[in-house]
Amino acid sequence: MAKKPRRKCIHCREWFHPVRDGQVVCCYVCASAVGKEQTAKNKADAMRAEKKRQREEEKEQRARQAERRQAVKPLSYFIKQAQQAFNEFIRYRDRHMPCISCGRYHDGQYHAGHFRTTGANPELRFDEDNCHKQCSVCNNHLSGNLTAYRPALIAKIGQARFDALMGPHELPKWKRDDYIRIRGEYRAKLKALKQQEAA
Ligand SMILES: [Zn+2]
Ligand SMILES: [Zn+2]
Repeated sequence: MAKKPRRKCIHCREWFHPVRDGQVVCCYVCASAVGKEQTAKNKADAMRAEKKRQREEEKEQRARQAERRQAVKPLSYFIKQAQQAFNEFIRYRDRHMPCISCGRYHDGQYHAGHFRTTGANPELRFDEDNCHKQCSVCNNHLSGNLTAYRPALIAKIGQARFDALMGPHELPKWKRDDYIRIRGEYRAKLKALKQQEAA
């Protein structure tokens, strides 16, 4: 049998003459050292894999917890979220306009004031004709200042739309998912409006 070409031991880097095919170490000592290194490496790999698995499990757990927290939120939470998104859109839509009721421009806080109240007319909660920028004085302290609101609203949207607003409306059977959808729609509408402004 022809002598195999010499090669370098992968452990001690000395030249040696292999006696077997695939022999990569020169002697038993190097073989055992390489074996130990391999074991240590395997252990480290296994530990890394385990840590990764743990991190992923924790992440999943957090996602499940967040989902559960959402699931136990009362319907009022989602109504409020949708109303906030709608109101923010209304305030931005009317940003260059004065208070719908008193016609004042001022630096204070503005609200989105419903003409027909959400309490008496929940079906008009998200009706854009029914809600306009209003100063906090008119909105909070004058209960909407409706006497002044009415003619200003007719002037703004026209008699036909005003009459439609005052007419009968069906009460939609909004559920949790509808409020989530409405919230999303008004966030998107506000974003589109802001982008329009920037363009
Ligand atoms: Zn060696
Ligand atoms: Zn006002």
